[in-house]
Amino acid sequence: MPRVVTFHYTLRDPSGQVLDTSAGGEPIAFLEGAGQIIDGLDEQLRGEPAGRKTIVKVPAARAYGLHDPAQVQRVLRTVLPVEGVLKVGDAFQAGPDRHAPVVKVVAIEGDAVLLDANHPLAGVDLAFDVEIVSAREATAEEISHGHAHG
Ligand code: ZN
Repeated sequence: MPRVVTFHYTLRDPSGQVLDTSAGGEPIAFLEGAGQIIDGLDEQLRGEPAGRKTIVKVPAARAYGLHDPAQVQRVLRTVLPVEGVLKVGDAFQAGPDRHAPVVKVVAIEGDAVLLDANHPLAGVDLAFDVEIVSAREATAEEISHGHAHG
């Protein structure tokens, strides 16, 4: 039987820089094996009891994927939907549709701009400081819905 687990986490990159944390907010709740959190974290928290503190390392390939060079494209500055000065590191949606991917400026070369549409954490090995807050058996309803309730 899968469980519903709640946990607090602090996410760091390999240099130790904090990328994200749940500290100060509600713990994250997920149904095991339902794809609610990244696979590599879900798998390594299986069977961990409430109260457990652990560090879970997830290689990029099991987190947000490897960095895909095909997702980096050179486009003319004039076709971009952004007014004003563009800088390396700027991120914006690639089109007017709200589902358009977010792209990041990685280089500016004359009147061309190099855009990276990879997830910001693509290619990054992740380390989660995890504290399991609670763990219980999932209900039949949660299993049929594919997510945690309550
Ligand atoms: Zn539901």
